[in-house]
Amino acid sequence: MSSDSTLSSALADALRAAGASTVLLPADAGFREELRVFNLHTRHDPDVVVAARSAEDVAAALRVAQEREVPVTALGLGHGVLADTEGGIAISTRGLASVQLDLDDRVVRVGAGTPWKEVVETVTPHGLAVLCGSSPEVGVVGYVLGGGMGPIARSYGFTADHIRSIEIVTPADGLVVASADSNPELFWALRGGGKLGFGVVTAVTLHAFPIETIYGGGLFYGTEDVKAVLDAFSSWSAALPVTASASIAIMNLPPLPELPEPLRGRYVAHLRFASVDDADEAEEVLAPMRAVATPLIDAVGVLPYSQIGLIHNDPTEPMPGNEGGMLLTSLRQETIDTLYSVFGPGAQLPLVGIEIRTLGGRLAEQPLEPNAVSGRDAAYSVFVLGAPVPELLDTAVPQAIGAVFAALEPWRADELLINFVGRANGPDVLDRVWRPEVVERLHALRRAADPNGILAGPRAGVLTR
Ligand SMILES: Cc1cc2nc3c(=O)[nH]c(=O)nc-3n(C[C@H](O)[C@H](O)[C@H](O)COP(=O)(O)OP(=O)(O)OC[C@H]3O[C@@H](n4cnc5c(N)ncnc54)[C@H](O)[C@@H]3O)c2cc1C
Repeated sequence: MSSDSTLSSALADALRAAGASTVLLPADAGFREELRVFNLHTRHDPDVVVAARSAEDVAAALRVAQEREVPVTALGLGHGVLADTEGGIAISTRGLASVQLDLDDRVVRVGAGTPWKEVVETVTPHGLAVLCGSSPEVGVVGYVLGGGMGPIARSYGFTADHIRSIEIVTPADGLVVASADSNPELFWALRGGGKLGFGVVTAVTLHAFPIETIYGGGLFYGTEDVKAVLDAFSSWSAALPVTASASIAIMNLPPLPELPEPLRGRYVAHLRFASVDDADEAEEVLAPMRAVATPLIDAVGVLPYSQIGLIHNDPTEPMPGNEGGMLLTSLRQETIDTLYSVFGPGAQLPLVGIEIRTLGGRLAEQPLEPNAVSGRDAAYSVFVLGAPVPELLDTAVPQAIGAVFAALEPWRADELLINFVGRANGPDVLDRVWRPEVVERLHALRRAADPNGILAGPRAGVLTR
């Protein structure tokens, strides 16, 4: 046995002695399964995994980590990991997955490790909707800790604006509930700033809304129409009513057989639209975009909320990725021209696509209980996804994403959305997500919750502050 594995075994023994129910070492069956991620470019190599089944398991792991000064990583479902894990204790939250709907209060308590689709499946038979993101595969807790901006976000705001309470185990205080009445400062920080590493969240309770259907879906436009559609999107999106949300993605689609034939191997624009208005009103709002060109595919109509994932049609199978995000103050004709000159048809950049989401509406308003969500003053979010080619992800892809951002620099807004940044944003990304005074407030609260800095957070750099 190497000294490393002797140390890991001693750590595992200490965790079991402290009461952690399922402790796994690299040689144990189930170790790799607990580290499963959506983004296959992530490398999680902890010494030990605590597969949490309860808040007590989490508390035991944090006690041992504090005593032994061992770093801890909280694992969600791996859609937005900003740094690899090397050594230490990883606390997997998959075993905490649960969904409890309270119909009287119209709230749903969701255990960590639960994907949105399980919550959507629970609430929609009751005529209710939850503010999930574009992909129902994404983990609820990671999503909410980063704010959460979904397909109907302009009408309802960030998902973090509709949280009743958060259950979290912190190194300083053990299991605490953060809500408007209990630990309000922590409640402010976790909703939007929660990925900085305050503790391990075990459950969130969020509001559900009486929405059965929306008017929404996607329109795909062929290569020759992309520029005209982008031109129209810049003015149309700026005038959207608060009842409507929209985004557009320009994509170089691979020639995959699972894609509809007209899209295979083509450079296309994908307009995503969702309105919470009546179908007639919504159709009228969308009409100018339908009139720009004849879409290759028009899949917009009345949609049961249970099918919300069809609006964006995000990939559901794990793949390697690197990505980056930026916020814009406006989307002018010049911005579109610039974007098109950088990533037009035939562009040789190793990118899958560039997505532009329209902000504003309720996203611009602080909720009644203010929170740490950033980016409320920005007008658009830009998200750039690199080609899923492992050998390009650390070099050519970040360079290409950097080139897109450099071109868009004249319209750059302050702040970033943490759920839309990636490794391509660079190592100091966290300091640029919020305004400096908000960063300071978050770090002061984080230091109170984790005085010894054992929670690595998304970046080791978090620990130095
Ligand atoms: C296909 C796809 C579509 C997406 N669509 C949207 C969208 O529409 N809107 C949007 O806002 N975002 C979107 N995202 C981003 C996504 O919301 C974030 O990446 C989110 O963090 C994913 O949650 P996760 O469980 O996979 O977290 P992970 O990637 O596993 O974790 C992300 C971070 O959160 C921390 N974390 C996770 N769980 C806990 C916990 N229980 N306690 C403490 N810390 C924890 C981790 O330590 C890590 O630092 C999308 C991502 C993908 C891949």
